[in-house]
Order: sequence, then structure tokens, then C-alpha cells
Amino acid sequence: GPISKSLAQRRVAAVSSAVSGGSDIYVAGAEGAILLDVDGNQIIDFGSGIGVTSVGHSDPRVVAAVTEQAASFGHTCFMVNPYENYIELCEKIAEVTPGDFDKRSVLLNSGAEAVENAVKIARAYTGRQAVVVFDHAYHGRTNLTMAMTAKVSPYKDGFGPFAPEIYRVGMAYPYRWPTGPENCAEEAFADFVGQVHIQVGEQHVAAVVLEPIQGEGGFIVPAPGFLAKLVEWCHANGVVFIADEVQSGFCRTGAWFAVEHEGIVPDLITTAKALGGGLPIAAVTGRAEIMNAPVPGGLGGTFGGNPLSCAAALAAIETMEAEDLPGKARRIGEVLSARLTALATQFPQIGEVRGRGAMMAIEIIVPDGSKAPDAALTKAVVAACIRRGVAMLSCGSFGNVIRMLPPLVSDISLIEDAMDVLAEAFAEVLG
Ligand code: PMP
Repeated sequence: GPISKSLAQRRVAAVSSAVSGGSDIYVAGAEGAILLDVDGNQIIDFGSGIGVTSVGHSDPRVVAAVTEQAASFGHTCFMVNPYENYIELCEKIAEVTPGDFDKRSVLLNSGAEAVENAVKIARAYTGRQAVVVFDHAYHGRTNLTMAMTAKVSPYKDGFGPFAPEIYRVGMAYPYRWPTGPENCAEEAFADFVGQVHIQVGEQHVAAVVLEPIQGEGGFIVPAPGFLAKLVEWCHANGVVFIADEVQSGFCRTGAWFAVEHEGIVPDLITTAKALGGGLPIAAVTGRAEIMNAPVPGGLGGTFGGNPLSCAAALAAIETMEAEDLPGKARRIGEVLSARLTALATQFPQIGEVRGRGAMMAIEIIVPDGSKAPDAALTKAVVAACIRRGVAMLSCGSFGNVIRMLPPLVSDISLIEDAMDVLAEAFAEVLG
């Protein structure tokens, strides 16, 4: 609309052109699973601000908690003048994360900071330096996390030199595993063991870091059993296993954490995004002996665990519990999975439907048997969805994955509407 267009012009004159991509529709308000734009249109939110607003936009509990906290005090810095809700949030995160051992947490501001701190902690604990990461990984945009992120353009292009001692190995990506999905976990693990032995040396590895469902890389669900093998290898070799649940955590996949689907317990877990119910906050949580390894004063930051963000996070977790958001994510997942599978039989350009719960995606390919990624078609379908009022997001190393990340409080009727729109978008684009 016209107001969005005028904002786009002001943006060009004020905002770095390096901050780009996404929709050109500007938001004026939001509630539940609906965005309202500056020109008065309603949009079904299928991205949740990249998996953040799982409790819905303007969740009443979050709004009340933040308002009350803002009127009381907004900031002191926990390292300078401590306060209760930082501790209360660490207690709560310890309760909901996997593992029945003694846990500790540190609170930070963003997912990248959480990953960066998890690596610092693992290095302090092991006295080792090397970090093993995977193809298709995304861990952030700070210097260390850029090095850990797989994709060069746009995340790393022109931004080197990168942090050393990061080693990348192959991902157990069933859809593209050369010898087929049934061999994937075993062969990928054998490759991992061999590569780490040759390139790094087990004795030098501080941490293995993996997203239990890869997010930006294309909603890649690791072959079943791969995670369990990695954890076992880590424990046999004195290596810290870090699950990056920044995108998959806090109910998104139909469990509180995606690692639960694989029955594994990470040593450290990084969280952010949905944790804050819309406010910026992140955490590293894990085994007490690991979390307590860095020197006193070694972790922290001015804003980490800011009282407003802690209040928001405690309220968001209350909503996740009270409204059974894991159950709601499973229900959304059943609907998405049925609709997307049906769509895939209609359109052979949908090479695979994958994901768990409300973290589902389709991979778009050229339907000639080659599985060649079709980024242009992906882009066109996403644009057609946005024109029809559904804020859809793409992802993937090859730019050919359409991901669904609706708020977990979305009515099923909205999910169905969005799937109707996706079907129309495919029909329009493939005409
Ligand atoms: N890890 C994962 C798995 C992510 O998906 C993201 C963000 N997309 C990050 C880390 C970085 O989080 P942030 O953007 O909050 O720094």
C-alpha cells in the first residue's frame, strides 16, 4: 500500500542497504497470529519474526509482565546490582530443559551471543580449542558465529578474517544423502569420526555444536540416530555436546526441545528467540560443572538478562505451560503435514515435506529426477503468498526451502487458510 511505499523510500535514505531481504509491507500492529500493516491490511503471520512469537503477538501475559516490570525498574545490570527475576528465569529454564542433573545458566541478549558463550564455556571446561560444526549450520553473525555458520553469501561475504579453530563436517541430510536416507545416520557418523580424527584430533575438540533441526540451512531433520551417535562419541572423547536450540526450542517442534524427539540430552543447550515472547533474551544452560568452569567474571554483559526481558520470558513460559503449546504445535504439525503432503502429490516441484510440529518445510526442486534446487520458483511462490496476505519465509543453503513458523497459538482455521493460499500460489506461479 501507499504508506508502506513511502516508508520504503525513507528506509533507503536512513537504513543501511545491507539490512535487507524480506517483505516490503510495514507493520503497524499485531495480535495473536495476525499482523496489521500500515495501510490497514491483515496478514497471516507464518514466520513469527523468525520463530520468536510462539506465544503469539502481544501475548496478554507478556504485555502485563513487561508493563509491570517497566514501571518498577527497567535496568540495573545483574552483574552490578542483582535482582530476583534473573534467578527465577534460570530456575525455570533448568526445570523445562532436558536432563535431570544439576544445571546452571547464563542469560544473554541474542542467539549468536548464546552460541558464542557456549563455546567459551566449553573451551574453559575442557582446556581445548577446536569446535566442530556441520554443513548447512547457522549459528549467527558475530565473528565467532559467522565462522560457525556454513553459508558464505550473504552471511560471511567480505567479513573475514574469521575466528580460527572451527572445523566443518558433513551433515546427516537424509534427502540429499548420496546412498539414500536409510544409510544416512551411520555413514554420516562414520564420516564425522574419520574427518575429526584426521583434520582435528579428538583430543583437541572442545565442543561439537549442532542444531537438532537445522533452521536457516533448510529445516533439515538429521537422520534418526545421528544425534545419539554424536552424543555418545562426545562423551567417550571428553567433548562437550552443544545443542543449538535457538530456533527449534521452546515448544516449536511439538516438544519443549527438539532433542527430546531423539531421546538425547545435550551437555549445554543454547536458547533465544521464542524464550523472550518477543523481547530480546538468550540463555546457555547445562551441566553445573561445565557452566561453572569459566573464571568468576568471565561471563556476562551489560544487558544480559535485563529485567524487562526476564519478566517477558517468565510470562512467555507461563503461557507455553498454561496453553499447552507443545500440544498445539503438534496439532499444527498434523495439519501442515497433511496439507503439504497433499500439495506435494499435486506439484512434483515439492521434492520433500519435512520437519516436526510447527517447524515444517518443503524443499523445492526441478522435477526431472536431478533434485536440482529451484531457488527462483521458491522465491516466486513466497512472493505470491505475501501478495495474498500470508507472510511466508524461505530458507536453505540453496535458497529453495519454504518454511512454516506460525505462532503456536494460531487457530487451525488460519493454518488451513494459509495452506489454501500456498496451494493458490503454486497454481499461479506454475500456471
Ligand atoms: N542459532 C540458530 C539455530 C538460529 O536459527 C539463529 C537465528 N536465526 C541464531 C543462532 C542466531 O540468533 P540471533 O539472530 O538471535 O543472534
